[in-house]
Amino acid sequence: MLSTLNDFKQYFYLEKEEIEEAEKVTTVFPVRCTEYYASLADKSNPEDPIKKTVFPNIKELKNTLPDDPFKEEVQSPVPGLTHKYPDRVLIVTTNYCPVLCRFCMRKRNWKKQFFIITKEQIDEIIKYIKATKIRDVLISGGEPLTIPDEILEYLILKLKEIETVEIVRIGSRLPVVAPNLLTEKKIKILEKGEKVWLNTHFNHPAEITKSSKEAVKRLLKAGIPVNNQTVLLKGINNNGETLYKLFSTLQKIKVRPYYLFRCDPVNGVFHFATSIEEGLEIMRNLKKRLSPLALPYYAVDTCKGKIILFPEGAKYKKDEKGYQLKIGNFRISLP
Ligand code: SF4
Repeated sequence: MLSTLNDFKQYFYLEKEEIEEAEKVTTVFPVRCTEYYASLADKSNPEDPIKKTVFPNIKELKNTLPDDPFKEEVQSPVPGLTHKYPDRVLIVTTNYCPVLCRFCMRKRNWKKQFFIITKEQIDEIIKYIKATKIRDVLISGGEPLTIPDEILEYLILKLKEIETVEIVRIGSRLPVVAPNLLTEKKIKILEKGEKVWLNTHFNHPAEITKSSKEAVKRLLKAGIPVNNQTVLLKGINNNGETLYKLFSTLQKIKVRPYYLFRCDPVNGVFHFATSIEEGLEIMRNLKKRLSPLALPYYAVDTCKGKIILFPEGAKYKKDEKGYQLKIGNFRISLP
């Protein structure tokens, strides 16, 4: 495991200045990476996408946006649970991740003391889900598949018993950053859950390797559908050719790309954001080349929910304050 800047030097092309700047960033936002994920980098490339995913950039310290713009922590009726949509809830199981992606929208949790959900907390969450007749549960983190197998199984089996719960989605980057941690035992637990889908997060074709393909194959073999969300990230994947390769390869390995998100307006993250127009232009071109099964929706997330933007006739206005979007009766402003 790489946990100091010194560890990163072996794997990435780094200028002296980049290391000095990163030292300042780590006083606020730490670093962590698996050896596996770091080994995917091309050490001769200063602009390597893997490096940019995990190596701190001084820009992380240069914005003044909120830590939690979507108010996940405010909309939390029970500790560890966020209830934003009528029939869906989010369960945050831990703040630990084996890889700290610099664009993480829950970066605020990196500063908190390490936590893992307890069985007692799960019992409270289950009571709430039963009472509110929730249909769709998203289990996230941090990396939810790093919590102890016993707790994971407890949660998954409790959710299985609730009649109203039809879908349990696990948001996990393990197939991408640490496929070896996706053990047979974990897959067996997910399989036992019966309602489980796995939503993963590939952002670049360099992340699709023999090991990640193998991890996906094992999930599919256990009957767990695998879908993918990508974040459009300036300097990492914001060009049509890279995304064409990413989405077509994902389709080839039977992973359905379903969302391409604009980077969220989160503290320490927003320097990765592209303009909405740039995303629409990329989508316009991808639409000509990819079948609908390989083409994700381009969306922005907001405190009122996701807004899908279609390349032909996306509904938003742009003025000196930024973007103005409408969701239901609400107007949302985004930088
Ligand atoms: S794996 Fe996901 S939750 Fe963890 S740091 Fe990366 S983006 Fe954030």
